[in-house]
Amino acid sequence: MASEKSIMWFRQDLRLKDNPALREALASGPTIAVYILDDESAGDHQHIGASRLWLHHALTALESSLNGKLLCLKGNSTLILQSLCAQHNVASVYSSFCCEPWRIRQDEEVREALAEQNVQFHQLNSSFLWWPQEINKPDGSPYKVFTPFYRRGCLTAKQPRKPLLTADTGKLVQINMPEAGIAKLRLLSGKSWEERVLKSWQVSEEGAEKQLLTFLKEGLTGYKNGRNYPSLPHISKLSPFLRHGQISPNTVWWAVANQEPTPDNDHFLSEIGWREFSNNLLFHNNKLPEENFRADFSQFEWEEDPQVIKRWQRGETGVPIVDAGMRELWQTGFMHNRVRMIVASYLTKNLRQHWRAGANWFWKTLVDADLANNSASWQWVAGCGADAAPYFRIFNPVTQAQKFDPEGVYIKTYLPELKRLSGNDLFAPWQAPQQSLLNAGVLLGENYPKPMIDLAASRKAALAAYEAMKGK
Ligand SMILES: Cc1cc2nc3c(=O)[nH]c(=O)nc-3n(C[C@H](O)[C@H](O)[C@H](O)COP(=O)(O)OP(=O)(O)OC[C@H]3O[C@@H](n4cnc5c(N)ncnc54)[C@H](O)[C@@H]3O)c2cc1C
Repeated sequence: MASEKSIMWFRQDLRLKDNPALREALASGPTIAVYILDDESAGDHQHIGASRLWLHHALTALESSLNGKLLCLKGNSTLILQSLCAQHNVASVYSSFCCEPWRIRQDEEVREALAEQNVQFHQLNSSFLWWPQEINKPDGSPYKVFTPFYRRGCLTAKQPRKPLLTADTGKLVQINMPEAGIAKLRLLSGKSWEERVLKSWQVSEEGAEKQLLTFLKEGLTGYKNGRNYPSLPHISKLSPFLRHGQISPNTVWWAVANQEPTPDNDHFLSEIGWREFSNNLLFHNNKLPEENFRADFSQFEWEEDPQVIKRWQRGETGVPIVDAGMRELWQTGFMHNRVRMIVASYLTKNLRQHWRAGANWFWKTLVDADLANNSASWQWVAGCGADAAPYFRIFNPVTQAQKFDPEGVYIKTYLPELKRLSGNDLFAPWQAPQQSLLNAGVLLGENYPKPMIDLAASRKAALAAYEAMKGK
């Protein structure tokens, strides 16, 4: 009888470095590395669009670091694992814990199915600094407000684990199956946007590390204030790597926490804390991607207009900072956080479209599309989330652009048709004198849209809708 083996079941931890599940699997003996694309079980929360593209390249890079010993299969995870365990004399399956509700349900199913075959199912925490079930209020209930969650819950809990060394992959076992292979997962669409998006990224574990080092050298000093300015290099752009697990949160945390504390460092760590908070919310509220966290918002009257949503998606609203953000997203698969807040406020408040319409578009187009962060952040901006921005705080996209893109560098990067406008003419071209527009070659309604709506009137209408909701 062949010696007992383990399976390392990769999911959102596509890396060798600081991967406790992979290390434990390899420490136990010969190991089969497996990735399973299980669209059916994921349902509405399966990878689509840009994150599918990212996943393809992340798996390609992982397969190469594992010297080709990665078995990529498509289908029902429980059935595939059961069959692999039976065929290859597997005693244990190792995986990293994920907060997505469909995965939590599936983990239970896998655990039971494997137990029937006498196979042990081990889950380790490779994707979060703290186990979501460990950070609770003193009375045991989950936190709903970020600051006490982070300050009282996380920072007073056990310190996050220090990063582990890269696993020695010498004990990986090569398995050949005709149905296996990254190409067979059909993650790529073959459309031209894929090449355009890829130009902005190096989708590998090595790429993640480079991104972190560049940020530590060039972005961290000045982060606290600079992170608000979309044309400045004061953000890490680590989110897609964290989302797919090409770098661990512990690696990122300790790279900064090991330095002298400064307001910039502390602020950066607290943003990593927001990632923990969103996942904690999702863990305790499995309907977060679909339902308002605040029940009173079920009475809110959203407008539902597919044409309006389409113009927003295409970056054709006529409001330059909004359109620049939507074009950044389309071109690169990413959008700066400040601009995410502006476009989300504009969609949910000025245009009064449901936050789910925005979240769905982000889910399709972001390379960092993450169920916890996306759902919690959209609800936060829309006012119906946990610890949310109050609904009546409606961003004025013109003053936001004046403040955070004062030279218009960001807007002009993504809207070259406006590059000869400046100052307020650039931020609100509909108010610019006709002659300035003519001199800049801008013809409103022809080569750049007229605004879809009046900002002041739509703000007033949104506030009225909010008051009406409160009265119900
Ligand atoms: C409407 C909306 C939708 C969003 N959707 C997503 C999403 O799908 N996936 C996603 O990862 N983030 C999402 N965010 C949060 C945030 O915009 C991104 O995490 C951030 O812009 C990523 O850029 P960065 O890595 O340079 O961030 P940095 O500023 O360098 O922060 C470092 C890390 O901290 C975490 N982080 C930072 N801000 C937040 C936040 N507000 N909430 C949770 N974690 C945070 C991320 O993991 C990020 O990589 C969304 C925000 C908004 C307003």
